[in-house]
Amino acid sequence: MSTNPATGAEAGRLPVASPTDVEATVARARAAGGWWAGLGVAARRERLLRWRTRLASRIEELAELVHVEGGKPVAEAVIEVVTAVEHLDWAARNAKRVLGPRRVRTRLMLAEFSAHLEYQPYGVVGVIGPWNYPVFTPIGSIAYALAAGNAVVLKPSEYTPAVGQWLVDSFAEVVHEEPVFSAVHGLGEVGAALCRSGVDKVAFTGSTATGRKVMAACAESLTPVLIEAGGKDAMIVDTDADLDAAAAAAVWGGFTNAGQTCIGIERVYAVEGVFDGFVDRVVQRAERLTVGADGTDIGPITMPSQLEVIRRHIDDALARGGRAVLGGADAVQPPYVRPTVLVDVPEDSAAIREETFGPTLTINRVRDVDEAVARTNALRYGLGGSVFGRRRAMAVAQRLRSGMASVNSALTFAGMSTLPFGGVGDSGFGRIHGADGLREFAQPKAITRRR
Ligand code: NAP
Repeated sequence: MSTNPATGAEAGRLPVASPTDVEATVARARAAGGWWAGLGVAARRERLLRWRTRLASRIEELAELVHVEGGKPVAEAVIEVVTAVEHLDWAARNAKRVLGPRRVRTRLMLAEFSAHLEYQPYGVVGVIGPWNYPVFTPIGSIAYALAAGNAVVLKPSEYTPAVGQWLVDSFAEVVHEEPVFSAVHGLGEVGAALCRSGVDKVAFTGSTATGRKVMAACAESLTPVLIEAGGKDAMIVDTDADLDAAAAAAVWGGFTNAGQTCIGIERVYAVEGVFDGFVDRVVQRAERLTVGADGTDIGPITMPSQLEVIRRHIDDALARGGRAVLGGADAVQPPYVRPTVLVDVPEDSAAIREETFGPTLTINRVRDVDEAVARTNALRYGLGGSVFGRRRAMAVAQRLRSGMASVNSALTFAGMSTLPFGGVGDSGFGRIHGADGLREFAQPKAITRRR
């Protein structure tokens, strides 16, 4: 059962799957997957585009459910659903181009041989999703896995099961022949059971700690995994940055979805000289953010346990000599957290080193961009990042140890269906979205032929 984090009222109720239920669902998906793969790419595309159209016609309904189950402001939920629909559309339309069979030139091949490459689906992909983007995040795996010819079994987060089931039901409304896409519900044990159920690949999105458990479970059967894990993204503000634009991006990147965003900006390093002007601009913008149930900028914190993490990070930063220039010690007022901006926070504090997942932003001053890059890269997290500046910005973005980066914007890489999405280090490995995202869900097969 899920609850509305703003009111505590019941939001969704789905039956919890036993390990036997999980195995039965995977077995049904395997049978259906044979049919789906045999349909061919054109027939799959036609069905996936029908699903796209169905989702596009019900954006408000799905956004409302995301709002009720997860607490996200409706306007942000609409953006999430629209972006997911765009990814579904791209995956459906591009599977043939990216994964279609092709002849390959090989330098060592004798004249009487030809070489062929084709991409075959894995079979059944288990998708384990988080609650913070319960549509956008799983669709980044589901759409691409289905387009590549796999069946999918989704394990949504216990906080947003109704959203996961809504996706499955809407798919079944347009593809009624076989249960190509289904869901199993329950706590982490159900996700663990899915990893051990004989699925052919697991696409996991969630915390780094759970990602390690997923890898360990999948190691037993050498089941391949995709791990999209946590982050602690930084923004670097150089001396020649447009400070108004940088402040707007820091506030958007830091506080969207109440900071509960894997690629959210949690740390900023501003070069001495622009530090004060940047902090002033951030505070002026962030203090205008409204906090509340809806029609507001910052909704409730979805997981009650996260409130303690956020409180601990703020307290620790202040105890170690950091200063709150907005919010601070009394910012946590369950189920809400008022926007908090902390400056001069010691680098060894939890607010700098651990994922906070709340509407807090640290801003530290650095001598130059070299120091900013060194501090950014000091953590093992490496999901995204952002750089504001002109002359050096592109070169700085290239030096970030991360899977993605934005120059003079924040978070923009997530919305672009042509670009791969994923991280390095503790943020995981493998890619969703774009051509790499399609290839992630298909296995290359080499065939040589003697004429
Ligand atoms: P989580 O606690 O790790 O849970 C993620 C999913 O894993 C849930 O469905 C969870 O089920 C399931 N799970 C728990 N234990 C499991 C186990 N032993 N084996 C298999 N599955 C298990 O993460 P979350 O709190 O839902 O999401 C927030 C985290 O996700 C943050 O760290 C955020 O940065 C990260 N995230 C990353 C990305 C990305 O693309 N890199 C995107 C979004 C979020 P239960 O719900 O029952 O626990």
